[in-house]
Formats: sequence, C-alpha cells, structure tokens
Amino acid sequence: YAKKLGKNNYQFFTPEMNRTAQNYMKLEKHLRRAMEQGEIELYYQPQIDLATGKVICMEALIRWFSAELGAVPPGDFIPFAEESGLILPIGAWVLKTACAQAKLWETAGLAIRVAVNLSSRQFHQVQTAQHARHPLLDAVLDALDASGLPPALLELEITEGILMRQLDSTMEILNILKDIGVRISIDDFGTGYSSLSYLKRFPIDVLKIDKSFVNDITKDPNDKAIVSAITVMAQQLKLEVVAEGVESTAQMTYLRELRCNYVQGYFFSKPLATGQVLPFLRQSAAATD
Ligand code: C2E
Ligand code: MG
Ligand code: MG
Ligand code: MG
Repeated sequence: YAKKLGKNNYQFFTPEMNRTAQNYMKLEKHLRRAMEQGEIELYYQPQIDLATGKVICMEALIRWFSAELGAVPPGDFIPFAEESGLILPIGAWVLKTACAQAKLWETAGLAIRVAVNLSSRQFHQVQTAQHARHPLLDAVLDALDASGLPPALLELEITEGILMRQLDSTMEILNILKDIGVRISIDDFGTGYSSLSYLKRFPIDVLKIDKSFVNDITKDPNDKAIVSAITVMAQQLKLEVVAEGVESTAQMTYLRELRCNYVQGYFFSKPLATGQVLPFLRQSAAATD
C-alpha cells in the first residue's frame, strides 16, 4: 500500500520514517479522511479463561481499510496518529465504539468485557479551563454513559511507558477509573524499562505477558522461567495474568501448568470483524456449557 502513495513516500510507513513536511501532511490528510469516510473499524480478539474454556473478554484492535492504500496495519499508523495528535479523536471513537459493541453483547445475554488500548498521548493531554475533568476521563465516561455499559465490563490496556511519565496526573486518572469500576491492564508486560515498583503504587488488575515471551515458551527454558516468575508474582500481588500471542496447543498446555489465568492468540481466534463476534461468542458458549 505504501507504494501507492508514490515512490518517494515509501519510507512513510517504515519505523525510520523519513518525514518531509509534505509526506507528513499527506498522511495526515489520508488519516483524517479515513475517519470521515468510515475506513476505520474495530476488530475484536477473544481472551479465554484457561480454567473454564469460556471467553471472558474481547480486545478491540483498530483496523484501517484504505480505499487508496489497502489495509494499513495499526503498527504503521498509530505512531503517526500519536505524533500528529489524531490519536485523540481516534481514541475517543475507539472507546465509544467498543463500549457500544460490548453493550450489544451484554444485551444478547453474553456479558463479557471489552478491552481498549490507550496511547500515552491520551494521558498527556492538557486540561484546559473548559474541562472540568481530564479529557481522557471525559472520553471514558462519555463512552460508558452513551452506551450504558457497566464500567466493570470495560478494561483499559496501558503500557509501562505510560506509568513512567507525569506520575501524579496518571495516578489520579487511574485511581478515578478504578473507583468507577473500570479494570486496568498492563499491555506488553515485561518489555518496558520501568521498575516493578509501579505494580504496588498503581491500581492495576491485570498483566498481559508480551507475546515475545510466549513464542518460544516450549523450547526456551529462559522464556518459561520468565513467564513462571511473572505468574507467581502476579498471584501474590493479586493480579490476573493474560498470555498474548498463543498459537499452539503446546503453548497453551505450558501456560496452564504455569497457572496463567487467560490466553489470547491465533490458536483460539484471530481478531474478528464486528459481525463475526456474536456468532463466535454463541458458538463458544454452546461448546463450554
Ligand atoms: P497489542 O495491544 O499488544 O495487540 C496485540 C497484537 O498482537 C495485535 O496486533 C494482534 O492482532 C496480535 N496478535 C494476536 N494474537 C496473535 C498471535 O497469536 N500471534 C501473533 N503473531 N500476533 C497476534 P495488531 O492488531 O496489529 O495491533 C498492534 C498494536 O497496535 C496493538 O498491540 C496495540 O499496541 C496497537 N493498537 C491496536 N488498536 C489500537 C487502538 O485502538 N488504540 C491504540 N492506541 N493502539 C492500538
Ligand atoms: Mg493490547
Ligand atoms: Mg500486547
Ligand atoms: Mg502492543
């Protein structure tokens, strides 16, 4: 897809993005138009409880199906959206859409959580005089109010990096969310550079073990040791653990032995389009009842 932007713009989507002002504006225009034209969608990937086999949560994952560029993976446009600030309207839209969907599942008799990824930009917004609340709290509360979703069915995924900066405001936001009843999880756990001390200072409910530790868990004793240590620590801290990127029965068996609570990965399901979610939930509910 990047080629279609023109030969010289190829580097746009590489991590070493060579951003000329012109390139930058072009991508910003594309992404703004994508929002307006409904090219942005949410897909949902299930998390399964290893003890019961039941689906307990769906993670919302953003997708951009561009008429001009084809499917643009989130890893290619989220960093740009963060830098340009477009992640703020996009992030608010993701919260609204995910909460509305989860409310539909609940109404259909399938009350499961929805997990939404937050970017650090959403925490580090300036709170202006017009805002009684931090803009992120506004976005979360608006999404809950508009949908009628019980706050306990919303989980917010943050990364360790978010906890490293602006500690006071981040702490305040997370404490308010916790009071409301929203769950907080640490995504990509184990890949950040932060100290573990944040685990006792912040109101965290869940650790999501990064898929880089899960990949070779059946072959690499070091990965097995790391995952084992994380689950033991989590249990003592009364945190739950999700393993990401589970692709095989063998990995699942190891994770069960290591007392991991939940699993997510292609082995159970790829991220599903909105319309596929209820059929999937009904089918798996029937299979485990
Ligand atoms: P993440 O939150 O860690 O999401 C997990 C990623 O792993 C997803 O990639 C998912 O499709 C992929 N995945 C799931 N199971 C497997 C598996 O078994 N094997 C492998 N190899 N991969 C698996 P995706 O959808 O491309 O998203 C990439 C990242 O983009 C996400 O990582 C998240 O950091 C970010 N992202 C996605 N949606 C949003 C959003 O709405 N807002 C923000 N701020 N970031 C988002
Ligand atoms: Mg995530
Ligand atoms: Mg992750
Ligand atoms: Mg990630």
